Amino acid sequence: SSSNSLLEFETLESNVRSYSRSFPVVFRKAAGAILEDENGCEFIDFLSGASALNYGHNDPHIRNAAVEYLQSNRIVHALDMATSAKREFIKNFDHIILRPRGLAYKFQFTGPTGANAVEAALKLARKATGRHNVISFTNGYHGGSLGALAVTGNRYFRNAAGLTPAGAVFMPYDGYWGADNDTSDYLDKVLADSSSGVDLPAAIILETVQGEGGINPASTDWLQSLERLCRKNDVLLIVDDIQAGCGRTGEFFSFESAGISPDIVLLSKSLSGYGLPLSLLLLKSELDVWQPGEHTGTFRGNNLALVTASAALQKYWTNENLSKGVIETGRQLMERLREVAQSNQRSELAVRGRGMMLGLDCRTGKLAEKIVRQAFEQGLVVERCGAEDQVIKLLPPLTIDSQTAQRGLDILEKSVRVRV
Ligand code: PMP
Repeated sequence: SSSNSLLEFETLESNVRSYSRSFPVVFRKAAGAILEDENGCEFIDFLSGASALNYGHNDPHIRNAAVEYLQSNRIVHALDMATSAKREFIKNFDHIILRPRGLAYKFQFTGPTGANAVEAALKLARKATGRHNVISFTNGYHGGSLGALAVTGNRYFRNAAGLTPAGAVFMPYDGYWGADNDTSDYLDKVLADSSSGVDLPAAIILETVQGEGGINPASTDWLQSLERLCRKNDVLLIVDDIQAGCGRTGEFFSFESAGISPDIVLLSKSLSGYGLPLSLLLLKSELDVWQPGEHTGTFRGNNLALVTASAALQKYWTNENLSKGVIETGRQLMERLREVAQSNQRSELAVRGRGMMLGLDCRTGKLAEKIVRQAFEQGLVVERCGAEDQVIKLLPPLTIDSQTAQRGLDILEKSVRVRV
């Protein structure tokens, strides 16, 4: 009966469904890092909703906060009216995240999804500077709506839309021309040269570790050079921390250790802490040039998601244990992954990443696909990313215990031996 219900579901759901199309089960339950299908089979989750479940599935503390809130007739939806849940979230985020890091931002609630935050950022950058262009990078991913798509590198996504809005200018991301070329030098020249054909942009938008683009971490030097050239040219720096933020790299914001100070920061995915939709744009106060109602939307500041977000901040970010755990588990996973890559006579495999955002580059989409399928059959959920879907990404919940993490790697190690 389980396979019948899957069949029905597959034919009714649009082909556009992407993640995990090839996983031939219906999932039903989940706790922590473990997913369970309708037949009671368990899978270790190294996908975590593409980093939307950094605290795992159904964290009991966060769930209690949601249940308690719902049971006491609190406000679930209120457009963007003032609510106590919103006030609590702003206070918590400011006190637990921003102030201890010496950061000061205003909050703009942008809607349910990451792409909503990206759209708002592109509009704001244009309005605040009066300029039109936005510079983004090869392999960057910022979302599926037209504006976000315009600054997304991958042709597969872009072509589906026909024409995307004009004004996006792509530059090579760090490492795109090989490790020896500092591509920020190139950008610096392009911006300084009045004959380069590139008008001064409103903003530069980037991920510090590209997620969908193949797990590509930028170096600290490169990020600092970009910040310098933004300051020199009076261009806004937008960090899209939708996938790499909320602790994924071992620090709350992925740019903290680089010491840069973006003008706009975008968060979503794990912000709500529970897989509930919520996105947020953090802006420097001098950039708050919006007029009331100029950028609207019905579902801004989902109150239930703000409650779970507050609970996650209070549980996980009022002490440093999570960050230390992420760095340590990430280091162990990286080490193991290197061994996996080096053994098995698969010299084509390469490993990249930062914190618990890791990628196994298989060079071809075909090999990566085989490994992913093999891993699934043995009880591990992983997915692919990169221009050719050639990179297996590993994004376990940050709260995973090291035994389960190692079990996941055991499965991956066996799966890598698959014949192509
Ligand atoms: N930016 C980045 C870096 C992302 O990884 C994603 C989603 N993969 C988005 C933006 C878009 O977020 P959403 O899918 O929630 O619209």
